[in-house]
Amino acid sequence: MINDINKIRQDFPILAEQVYGKPLVYLDNAATTQKPQIVIDTLRDYYLHENSNIHRGVHRLSQIATDKYEAARETVREFINAKFTDEIIFTAGTTASMNAFAYSFAKAYLKPGDEILISHMEHHSNIVPWQIACKDCGAVLKVIPIDDNGELMLDEFEKLISPRTKIVSLVHVSNSLGTVNPIQHIIAKAHKQNIPVMIDAAQSIQHLPIDVQKLDCDFLVFSGHKIYGPTGIGILYGKKKFLDEMPPYQGGGDMILSVTFEETKFNVLPYKFEAGTANIAGAIGLGEAIKYVKNIGLDFIATAEGELLDYATSLANEIPEIRIIGTAKEKSSVLSLDVKGIHPHDIGSILDRDGVAVRTGHHCTEPIMRRFNIPATTRASFSFYNTKAEVDALFASLQKVIKLFA
Ligand code: PLP
Repeated sequence: MINDINKIRQDFPILAEQVYGKPLVYLDNAATTQKPQIVIDTLRDYYLHENSNIHRGVHRLSQIATDKYEAARETVREFINAKFTDEIIFTAGTTASMNAFAYSFAKAYLKPGDEILISHMEHHSNIVPWQIACKDCGAVLKVIPIDDNGELMLDEFEKLISPRTKIVSLVHVSNSLGTVNPIQHIIAKAHKQNIPVMIDAAQSIQHLPIDVQKLDCDFLVFSGHKIYGPTGIGILYGKKKFLDEMPPYQGGGDMILSVTFEETKFNVLPYKFEAGTANIAGAIGLGEAIKYVKNIGLDFIATAEGELLDYATSLANEIPEIRIIGTAKEKSSVLSLDVKGIHPHDIGSILDRDGVAVRTGHHCTEPIMRRFNIPATTRASFSFYNTKAEVDALFASLQKVIKLFA
């Protein structure tokens, strides 16, 4: 491999931390990723030397902050290969993007009886905003089922899609199963019936190359903190032809061209959707994180994370008490475990004492837990900065838990 793992780990100072006197084994990357020094330095330098409000100032600092904020937008555009920079809207994260999108799309296009098609493996942030929108506009939520491996049932998708379907809103990679959905296929099928598609890329943007023009998705959302950037920043991408027609989600400063008490003229894209003072440092930090990821290389990331997932899966399969939840053919580096007779919260607490950080719970995907008839899972999620030795530490600790409860 071109990249040296020890050198990579040095980029992430937090990985050298100790927890209860043990080396930190951070396997909660699907919840949030750690930050490389370059991102931390960028945030620090911004507040030390450049902090200012953007767009409205004529002074030097405001110009620097504005230039860097807009340069970050261009970095995002290039990364996902959007056609136009003004199709990139900064938000507070995937959840904020989804809420803005569902509200605005429903206002522009949905009528009573229209249908929104999601899947059984959506994160709550691609379910609840639609339920709120449905209450307002009288549309109906339809759900593509999943099979026992955690794969979408594509024949059912074909049955559900109809002239009443006005949007397909789908997760690219499931955060609790690891399933990589065949979005290219789904987008093509939906487009045959002129139905736009929204992709939740919260768990794919950090693992897989995404080219929105090649995919031809109409909308795409993701969070900065899951791709090694800061929290509180995210992206809503949308094709210009839709975004131009859709109303703003929030009103206030920056999103207007002119205001009188009688009438307000909204600003052009992307500012129409960026009311108020933005997370300027966050956007600049996200730009830096994307540059870091590009530098590491998505090919390297896929290889390194694929090896860790295969290794961890083989270790899990050797333990009779463990059942893997999510066994799709195409998987991202998420390993969700059901350990016979032991509640995930007990597992997580004991692992924590060994320095191993995993996530336990429903992972904001309660319908998946119900589908598999379990209350929760123990989820390890790997990044390219993790090692096989860390996977060994996870399984040594798991074996300890199983013995303890035997
Ligand atoms: N969608 C998926 C698939 C996720 O995994 C997450 C977070 O875990 C979200 C949406 C929500 O992201 P955020 O909490 O950053 O808004």
